[in-house]
Amino acid sequence: MTKKIFRSMLLLSMIVLVAAIGGVMGVLYHYFSENMSDTLRSEAMYLAVAVDDEGTGYLERLPAQTERITLIDGDGTVIYDNMADPSNMENHADRVEVKEAMERGYGESSRYSGTLSERTMYYAIRLSSGQVLRVANTHYTVFTLFGGLISPIVLILAGMLILSAVISSRVSRRIVEPMNVLDLDHLDQVPVYDELVPFVTKISRQKKTIKRQLADAKKQQEEFSVITENMQEGFLVIDSETEVLSFNKSALKLLHADYFAPKQSVLTLNRSEAFCQAVEAALGGEHTEAVLELGQKRCQLIANPVWEKKTVKGAILILIDVTEKMDREHLRREFTANVSHELKTPLTSISGYAEIIQNGFVRPEDVGKFAGKIFEESQRLITLVNDIIRISQLDEGLMPYEHEEIDLYEEAKETLVHLEPAARHRGISLSLNGEHFYISSVRTILHEVLFNLCDNAVKYNKENGSVRVTVGRQDGHVTLTVEDTGIGIPQEDQERVFERFYRVDKSHSREIGGTGLGLSIVKHGAASMGATIDMKSTLGEGTAITLRFPLAVETAQPDGPEQH
Ligand code: ADP
Repeated sequence: MTKKIFRSMLLLSMIVLVAAIGGVMGVLYHYFSENMSDTLRSEAMYLAVAVDDEGTGYLERLPAQTERITLIDGDGTVIYDNMADPSNMENHADRVEVKEAMERGYGESSRYSGTLSERTMYYAIRLSSGQVLRVANTHYTVFTLFGGLISPIVLILAGMLILSAVISSRVSRRIVEPMNVLDLDHLDQVPVYDELVPFVTKISRQKKTIKRQLADAKKQQEEFSVITENMQEGFLVIDSETEVLSFNKSALKLLHADYFAPKQSVLTLNRSEAFCQAVEAALGGEHTEAVLELGQKRCQLIANPVWEKKTVKGAILILIDVTEKMDREHLRREFTANVSHELKTPLTSISGYAEIIQNGFVRPEDVGKFAGKIFEESQRLITLVNDIIRISQLDEGLMPYEHEEIDLYEEAKETLVHLEPAARHRGISLSLNGEHFYISSVRTILHEVLFNLCDNAVKYNKENGSVRVTVGRQDGHVTLTVEDTGIGIPQEDQERVFERFYRVDKSHSREIGGTGLGLSIVKHGAASMGATIDMKSTLGEGTAITLRFPLAVETAQPDGPEQH
């Protein structure tokens, strides 16, 4: 804008300057022409009076003149001329000024030279004798004048050009300056051209509206990002060409992608048929669901079309990690099948023994033995049902969850007291070591966990073996270790023994009254108490299982080892 104003001003000043020079020259030229014309007229009049009085001799006596004086007879013959020989001059009757003078007493005219560089002015007056006296003078034309003055004019023009450039530059800057420093937020603090006030006010108002709208849009965008970025579910928005328009981190993670390149098609991220079909169906206007295998995970894909004026403009894809859910369902199905099977075995035995007795196939002296078998199997059934109930309660979170501070040492002591008869029966010694440490836990769960660990240590021990329980403290945790000198667990089974109904030696376990649920209860119970499990076992030598509890209150009372 500054440049435009500058150029316009410069052009304007140049036009004005050239016009002014032209005008001045025209005025001067006109003035001098008039002046000369007046002079010629007065001279002609004086001379006419003198020639009328004294005749042609007066003219001959005149000193040399700059003007040309010609005396012409009534028929146009030149009688006298002060600058040429009249005899050589042609008849002047047809000259405009002469003709006019003859007709009306005076006449005037002017004629340019062949080169237009000179102009001759004539004034003629008719004498009383009928002759015509003509006075002529020559002066330069305006072109000649201009030609002669060209250098000073160019100099003046150049000077003026520089001057007007400087002035134009300053003026244009001064005009534009208030607009450059215009602060639309503080209109009252900066002077604004009156003419610009309505425009500037409108712009300022629009600016405020845009600012507010931008802030709203930004807030919405941020809210949207917070929601989508904190979603566990993958979220993708695609257009009708399958290009990804928006996505969240979870989507990247679930689809095992590092980033989405601009204009990348979502179909490049998963080439499975199920994914392609779901995307296609959504873009065809259908709500679709599918389960995808994404590496180790299984994801449920929900694809919804996005409609705009009855046309599908794109789709929203939601990916939900259902691995755990499906695993849990699988486990539940497996558990149900296992439970049925495990229940069936003792029931079949009970039913078999009862049938034999009913049919009278048992001698009276053997009835007690058979009844004992039925009792044994019933006990097994009761244990199994109890374990199933425990594990279901732990699964469903139905165990009483009231936390209290419990002396772990005392709790372990009580457990060992319960197991004492069984241990004594097989010559197994039980010992408790360590200190009294308190943990915040749920008593019923802790009891189940301790009982199952110690029970296994006795069950899977060798005759005359030993079980050693130690309560201690390590790295800010309370630890409880149950060690036995039993049969040990093979390396490959150590992970699996915590699975439901998993037994290393099924028949041996059954024989000694195992249900295959003890360590599952330990695993679930420990997790619900915030404890971790560590197992060390050597086949044929024994097993040590350590639970690490978060410490509640430190109230250690050193206690010597106890024998049971
Ligand atoms: P069970 O009721 O059959 O004992 P658990 O879930 O308690 O079931 O144990 C699973 C399997 O782990 C057992 O069948 C047994 O083979 C093995 N096991 C558990 N504890 C011990 C241990 N202390 N020593 C050796 N083997 C063990």
